[in-house]
Amino acid sequence: MFDASTIELSTAALRNNIAFIRQALAPGTRLCTVVKGNAYGHGIGTFTGLARRLGAEYFAVYSAAEAYQLQKNLAQGVAIYIMGDVDGPALEWAVEHGAAFNIFELDRLSQAIRAGRAQGKRARVHLEVETGMHRTGIPSQELPLILESCKTHADAIDLQGICSHLAGAESGENHLRIAAQKLRFQEALAMAAAHGAVPPLRHLACSAGILNEPDTLYDMARVGILHYGFWPNGETRQHYMEVHGLKEDPLARVIRWRSRVIAVSTVPPGGFVGYGNAFQAQRETKIATIPTGYAYGYSRSLSNTGHVLIHGCKAPVRGMVNMNCITVDITDIEGVEKGDEAVLIGSQGGESISVASFGDLSDQLNYELLARLPHAIPRVVVDQHP
Ligand SMILES: *Cc1c(COP(=O)(O)O)cnc(C)c1O
Repeated sequence: MFDASTIELSTAALRNNIAFIRQALAPGTRLCTVVKGNAYGHGIGTFTGLARRLGAEYFAVYSAAEAYQLQKNLAQGVAIYIMGDVDGPALEWAVEHGAAFNIFELDRLSQAIRAGRAQGKRARVHLEVETGMHRTGIPSQELPLILESCKTHADAIDLQGICSHLAGAESGENHLRIAAQKLRFQEALAMAAAHGAVPPLRHLACSAGILNEPDTLYDMARVGILHYGFWPNGETRQHYMEVHGLKEDPLARVIRWRSRVIAVSTVPPGGFVGYGNAFQAQRETKIATIPTGYAYGYSRSLSNTGHVLIHGCKAPVRGMVNMNCITVDITDIEGVEKGDEAVLIGSQGGESISVASFGDLSDQLNYELLARLPHAIPRVVVDQHP
């Protein structure tokens, strides 16, 4: 209630992106929708509800805390998979509620066995093997012991998957490292098979993997950023569009972030706008105030450089981004009034503000900027963006 801004999620855009991802997957490859980081800032509850209605049925999060949030939001019949942080009581909760999780060390496997026994349920686990990412993963010399343990404790352990994560499949410069990872993953699968373990879900690919490394598809792909309508990076976009002869971006942005004008004022020539002397008006300047500052995820680095859309025109940010508001130049936009919509990310009247221009021009920052959008901003679903 009384919110300063709202994030809108487009049903049409997500439907488009899911169709794009599915055509890139092999027919037998399952799609796992990655919704970590508050669904890349889109809002985990609202986004997964929407994705669910569009047919998504397998969701990956990083932590048990996110899984807990999902489990409360989603209807039955949806699979939840925790890729990273789950231990102690959280792990017991995961076993109780049938959430799958990664095993990358013996200690966690022991916990899973204990929890499964105690509850008379089989813990659903995926073995995350080390292939070269060097973050979490079972080193190959420990894999036989863990495989044996899974077999011995099959009453408490349901081995559903074997997986690993590619360390930078979006860039050609990582080609050798990725090639080595693919090889190590195959070796791990062979080792598992030698121990009689052929879990139904072998998975290695993320967004960049499905586009650049089709031989990493296996049984499932864990796809995040493409769902939201962003490419892993510019190189991947360019390469994909060139190879497929595309002129227009096949992805559509799901997010649109809007606020409104709360005040309009006039600054005489020579007057300064906001704190200090960051911006001095060279001419009589009309300023609109938008109640969204760095406390709401609008970065201070956009001081004097960002833009918002009002009446379908770009209005430049003047002066510093404040904690709770920004001031934008509307001198050249006719008839702006208090209450008019201001778009911070997304389109309005044929113009659009991309996340990249909203922040830095680097694509890697898309992930970061999106994930930093505050949880407190309300998220709503719309049919499509204007
Ligand atoms: C984030 C993540 C993904 C998804 O990555 P995208 O580039 O957004 O598709 C897949 N797997 C793991 C382990 C991840 O951490």
